[in-house]
Amino acid sequence: MTVCKFGGSSVADAAQIKKVKAILDADENRSIVIVSAPGKRNREDEKITDLLYRCNEAVQKGGSCKEIFAIIQERFISIADELKIEKKPLIMQLEEIRQLIDAGRGADYAASRGEYLSAFLISQYLNFEFIDAADSIVINSDGTVNPFSYDKIHMLVDNSKKKKFVFPGFYGSTKDGVIKTFTRGGSDITGSVVSRAVNADVYENWTDVSGFLSADPSIVEHARVIDTISYNEVRELSDYGASVFHEEAIAPVVKSGIPINIKNTNRPEDRGTLIMPTCEEKKLAGVSAKGGLSRIKIRKLMLFKKQGMRHALLTMLHIFGIRPSFSLFGIDSIVWFYDTKMASESILDAMCERLKSEFELDEVSVDSGHAILGVVGSSIADDGSYIKAAKALSDASIPVSFLNYGASDVSYSFGIRDEDKEKAVKIVYDALFK
Ligand code: ASP
Repeated sequence: MTVCKFGGSSVADAAQIKKVKAILDADENRSIVIVSAPGKRNREDEKITDLLYRCNEAVQKGGSCKEIFAIIQERFISIADELKIEKKPLIMQLEEIRQLIDAGRGADYAASRGEYLSAFLISQYLNFEFIDAADSIVINSDGTVNPFSYDKIHMLVDNSKKKKFVFPGFYGSTKDGVIKTFTRGGSDITGSVVSRAVNADVYENWTDVSGFLSADPSIVEHARVIDTISYNEVRELSDYGASVFHEEAIAPVVKSGIPINIKNTNRPEDRGTLIMPTCEEKKLAGVSAKGGLSRIKIRKLMLFKKQGMRHALLTMLHIFGIRPSFSLFGIDSIVWFYDTKMASESILDAMCERLKSEFELDEVSVDSGHAILGVVGSSIADDGSYIKAAKALSDASIPVSFLNYGASDVSYSFGIRDEDKEKAVKIVYDALFK
């Protein structure tokens, strides 16, 4: 059995959905489909999910979602029109959803309706059974998937008369039955959860590129498609900003070792990238960089002499809403990097004051404009490539604030300035891959 997840660009309009049908018709094993909400049809277009978040914002500000919802409504109705699907049930659903958003159901409910309506329409077009993720996927308060979901999906699929199914991606519900979404791009996670539940032979993840690329093609024109890559490497590349596959979508399939095949809806004949539990061949996989980071630096003589210091400092950061993505330690210092969006300047000022007084620090400072560049590959432990990468950055006069090598078996990273991100990716890529 093959589970197929189609991303937003693959279901952006009726023409794309027709391609989805052709892909499914070409292979009988493709019996379970997960869909995203319609994405952008062109550069200027807006994703349905973004519009739905805007609907909720309008309501939170005391207004109505009517105007923005009209755009959503029009898009779904035009898809139904072109696919020759009966419009009455869709119009009724749209009206009910609009009323509930206006009644203040909240961001998760609003955002989830893009996937819901997409699956509702596509299941009719394909004549597959619609299974609502709200009835089958339980999401814990920390965003992880409750294992109960696997049995539930298995049971629903097993007990159904129809042998083909469509699930909406991106959401499930809390154990109390309230709609809850994964983080953005989370339909990939739904695909993994369903794959594990039905013990799929393969999880095909259909998108608009022919696989995982060794670098962002808008930065490195000659970036190539990675043939085969391991679960670990994908997680790391995604964490460094490569956007093809959600980094949390690996976890559900790890136990069962299901292969994931990234494929292109617009070029189904291309092999794409195969993501496997492990890969035999030792090689470099890719380079990626993620910006928008800020840095907190702390210094105090004999900082770690007192037991539990790291934990106490981190707890203080959490109190101010900062959850660092990574940290570095020295004998008398700690440096944390976190997503700049996590805290405003006034919150940071208050936090620095509190840190300084409570822990009697010699120095505490925060600055923004940082980025991290990661090189990922199974060969990094003994190919010496970090030396070549560091030299390339130095030759190009790109300042490096840290080098993190050895914490992971399959990646190392450099701290760079946000403004150097693209240049650095290009330079390191050329030094290692050309
Ligand atoms: N539609 C959601 C988003 O735009 C989820 C997804 O497409 O995976 O983030």
